[in-house]
Amino acid sequence: PLGSRGLGDVYKRQDMQDELRKNGGCTAAAVRSSCRKWAGGLGQVSDGRMPPKAMLVTDIGKMLLESLAGSHPSAELIHAKNNILVVDHLFVSDVVALHRTRPAAIVVQHGHPASHGLILARELEIPILCQVRDATRLIDPGTPLIVDADQSCVMVHPSSATNMQREFTELSPVVPGPEVAASMDIGGKTVRVTADVGSPATSTQAAASGADGIGLLRMESIYMQAGRALHVDEIIRRLADILAPMGDKPATVRLLDAGGDKPLPYVEDCSLNCRGVRLLARHPELLFPQLRALVKLSRDFGQLHVLVPMVTLSEDMRLVRAALERAARREGVAPPPLGAMVENPAAALMVGELWEWCEFIRIGSNDLTQYVMAASRANPAAGDYFQQTHPAVLKLIGMVCRSEHAGLIGLCGSLADQTDMVPQLLQLGIREFTVPPHSIRAIRRAVAEYG
Ligand code: PEP
Ligand code: MG
Repeated sequence: PLGSRGLGDVYKRQDMQDELRKNGGCTAAAVRSSCRKWAGGLGQVSDGRMPPKAMLVTDIGKMLLESLAGSHPSAELIHAKNNILVVDHLFVSDVVALHRTRPAAIVVQHGHPASHGLILARELEIPILCQVRDATRLIDPGTPLIVDADQSCVMVHPSSATNMQREFTELSPVVPGPEVAASMDIGGKTVRVTADVGSPATSTQAAASGADGIGLLRMESIYMQAGRALHVDEIIRRLADILAPMGDKPATVRLLDAGGDKPLPYVEDCSLNCRGVRLLARHPELLFPQLRALVKLSRDFGQLHVLVPMVTLSEDMRLVRAALERAARREGVAPPPLGAMVENPAAALMVGELWEWCEFIRIGSNDLTQYVMAASRANPAAGDYFQQTHPAVLKLIGMVCRSEHAGLIGLCGSLADQTDMVPQLLQLGIREFTVPPHSIRAIRRAVAEYG
């Protein structure tokens, strides 16, 4: 799998054979020590932080161990409910284990809030603190902890008085802020606040928070959970469970965005150069079941929209448009609206060409920032450069908003979730903010204040 993910230069057959000999033929031990050696050879940034390529090798090693053992190694990290997971890094493959054994909170020593592992874990509504210096060195297994993600603090060995106070606060009813009317008009265009969801629980929470719909349902949430390719009926069942709490409100489902730092263990060639729609184009066995499922679902969920991840060329959209139309013809229904995710500079600069193939555009601020600023979202060492509010990022967002169908541009990613940026983003022309369910009310209030 290393070769197929563009890491062929890292893999040394001889190393693996030497380790196998040293470990008496034990494959798991050979995989563990070879991957450790290869990742170590890719350097350490500082404080034990790993460069992204080393993280990828480590994660792939973990997945290999998982398939060898027939279980997920990260599951060993989480012994029981109400435990708090303290880790160096949170890998995408760890999230699979989190689905099964939900820890009460996660403390991550390294890792950027916009990294995929953290985004997917947050979708599970698990409180997470990241970039907690020396966490794994200072916190011994079994140490009593309180994690307050709102205040960004970890209390180690809290006193019984603190414990009681916390329990009391948790039991006290939450007083919600003043309600704000649903969609609002600004400059003659409706502004919508929609939810970023990945499970029936988050969708239920979004509905209760008054979201205008689902703005982003990442197909990878269900694929990661399943750990294998899915059949049409399974995709329908899993998506329907997430869509149902929102009733007949609009919902945008994004096709599988795998590749790069979101590898799928059962798909070869998951390199960065083969991410999102590029991977789907090479794997029709992944693309077609998703499109067929979405077309069938559009019968029950009338306002279903289909979003294409990591679009670069208009050719990417032409290919998906043709496949969607074929799937719709086969089911005898009209194809649901198709959108392009603009999350790299080429797509932003050439958005006019993408409009020929789609009905709506969503900007993904996490990836757009990473590619505009040349700063990996997974590597805290580049944190100073990963600036979602940098004028270069905002300039491209403005350019996309001024493209021909102004008023149909939505924003996803962590930039959409910054209340203080709402006025500037509205001025640029953003008309839909897609945020986690717990932020719906705050963003709506910020929009109302601007209006
Ligand atoms: C983004 O890139 O901003 C985005 C929403 O997509 P993801 O975080 O899933 O890559
Ligand atoms: Mg993205």
